[in-house]
Parts: sequence; C-alpha cells; structure tokens
Amino acid sequence: MTTPPRPDAARNASPYLYGTELEAVGRVLADGQYGHTAVTEQFEQEVARFLGVPDAVATASGTAALHCALLAAGVGAGDEVIVPSMTFCATIQAIRAVDAVPRFVEVNPDTLCVEAATVMAAVTDRTQAVLPVLYGGRAVDLGAAYDTLHERGIAVIEDAAHAFGSHLNHRRVGATGALTCFSFGPIKNLTCGQGGMVIPRNPGEADFLRGVRMLGVVQSQAERQAITSYSVEGFGLRYQMSSINAAIGLAQLRRFAETETTRRELWVAYRDALRGIPAVELVDVDVTRTMPHLCVVRVPHREDVFRLMKTRGIAVGVHYPPNHLQAAFKPWHRPLPVTEKVSEEILSLPFHQHLTAPDIDRVVNSLEQALTSAGGP
Ligand SMILES: *Cc1c(COP(=O)(O)O)cnc(C)c1O
Repeated sequence: MTTPPRPDAARNASPYLYGTELEAVGRVLADGQYGHTAVTEQFEQEVARFLGVPDAVATASGTAALHCALLAAGVGAGDEVIVPSMTFCATIQAIRAVDAVPRFVEVNPDTLCVEAATVMAAVTDRTQAVLPVLYGGRAVDLGAAYDTLHERGIAVIEDAAHAFGSHLNHRRVGATGALTCFSFGPIKNLTCGQGGMVIPRNPGEADFLRGVRMLGVVQSQAERQAITSYSVEGFGLRYQMSSINAAIGLAQLRRFAETETTRRELWVAYRDALRGIPAVELVDVDVTRTMPHLCVVRVPHREDVFRLMKTRGIAVGVHYPPNHLQAAFKPWHRPLPVTEKVSEEILSLPFHQHLTAPDIDRVVNSLEQALTSAGGP
C-alpha cells in the first residue's frame, strides 16, 4: 500500500483516512455484500454506544438524515421550520424536500449559532420544527425554551453535521434529547466517505426512520432470506448506508480518541498563534466541550484577505454564504443584517488532521501579511 501525499494548508479540509480504513473496506469487498448489511448495523450500534444512546439509524448522507428526521417529526407541506441562514445549503434543501418553508433567523455573531430568544421570537402558528445548526461543532443549548417548544408540539431537530464528538452538559451531542442528525461526509469530524446518522428519540421513531431510509420497505428476516416477498408500508427513499461506507466509519470511530486529541491540539495551536494579531477575531470555542470542526476568524477586508491568501497557496474558505440571499430560497428571504454583516467578515482557515505546527505558522503568517496589504489601493 502506498501512502498518499500529506495534504497541507493547500486544502481547507481533508479526510484523515490513512489508518485501518483500507483494511476494513478490503474485508467488505472480499465478503461481497455492499448494501445495508450487518456491517452497517454494527456501525449503528457502535455509534449509539459511543454517544450513550439506545439507538442510531444510519443514512446515505447528512442531507438524507435531515430529510428523514423532518419526516419523522411530521414536518410537511407549508409548515415553517425555524433555521439559521448561516448554515450549509443542505440544511435548507432538506426542509424544501418535505415541502416545508424555512423561517430564517439570525445567529449570535460571536458564536454563529442561534439563541433561544431569537428562536422563540420567530415561533408562529405554522411552526412545526426548530432546526438549530451546531456551527463549528458548538452545541446549541436552548435551555428552558426546549421545554416550551416541546409543550407546543414543536420538534427540535439538531443539524449536528459539524458536531460529532462535542458535548453539552456532560453528554455527547446526540444524547441530549433532540432528534439529532450527523453527517459523515468526506470532510466531517468522522467520515464514512459519505454518510449520515439520525439519533431517534424513541423506539417508534427509530422504526419509522428505518422504513423511510429503505424505500418504505419492511422485510422480515425470513423474507430477507427468501427474497420472494416484501411489503411496502409507507413513503421511503433509497437512503440506507452501504457496508463499504459503514466499514470506513467503524474504522474511524475506533480511533476517534486520536482524532479528538489531534483536532483539539491543532485548534489550540491556531488560537495561540492568532493571539498576536489584533485585527483578527477568532470565533472561539471551549475545546474541552466542543470538538472543533472549523477554524473561523472574522477579519476586515475579507475579500482582499481571501484573495491574497489564495494566491499564496493557502486554501481559505467561507462557511457560509447566507442562505436567505440564495436564488433558490428567495421566496423566504427576510432582512437579516447581523448575518449579512458577519458573512462578509468570516474566513475559514485550513483545518484538518494532516496539518502540522509549521503549516499553522505558515497560515498565520500569510494571514498577517494579507491583512497588511488588504484594503489598500
Ligand atoms: C455537511 C453538512 C450537511 C450535509 O451533510 P452531507 O453528508 O454533506 O449530506 C448539513 N448541514 C451542515 C451544516 C453541513 O456542514
């Protein structure tokens, strides 16, 4: 086996797949069963054990996880879902997939996450769900608002695509009572190559999710053996996770402790290095609780800084261009001045497990130089 080249600061994000994943995939390929198999079910069980929850339902992607969760929460045509504009477009497309409408809300500019008061102020008679996004891995604590929403029959569906491994009140994200969706896409904290997971709130919801992610088909063990019959019992899509992806996820999960340590160390190295640059404001997180997913700073003259750093081979990014300004979501546009302002300041520095201390120095030096030239003639 040849070792692929180590991606450096020329990539904004990168999976870390050079451990036992290849062996695990090799075993699945040798076995010859690539659909939803016992390997997928083992991955579900190990994720559930890791999080400290009774069950977990694997899906083909994080977007599929969100779509399934919205269906499980009974969100349908015309319902309103309260959601920050500051998220990946996948969050909003999942809402559109059930024909519901996004009710875009502001985020706190220091955390880039929604706050309970903002959410509660946006609740209407048509609100069927609230969809907080755990931006950068930070857990969103709705506090007492959580109970109020529950009493009003409004579901809380967490987009925890960034937050696998993070904690809230000494529990892992996923174990805090919300209907939680993870992504195991190529650049997430834990990757399956492509994949997702829904953490159901009760056994009935788990059964429903298993139906939806498998074309609505329910097969008994005997039917699965014989394949002469199956029953279609409800709506569903081809959303299950293949054993190939699950094998990658299992290998990743088994050395997640190493992932956690590395990502935290890298993040702290960035924080220390950025302290010396007053013009830069780090979107700070408490790494003892948050499993950092992005390293986001707010800078003046962002467009210039972005361009200058790119020119020097530093793969900076922007997470995210606001969704309420996207053409596809125009019908649900509302002015969101805080989000609009902050979206012009944010810059994501390269952040992945292949980075070394010299890479981080190079990124921070380049940022410092770019800031010196930015805003000039
Ligand atoms: C990645 C991501 C998703 C979608 O997950 P996929 O696995 O890419 O479908 C949803 N929301 C957020 C915030 C994400 O970053």
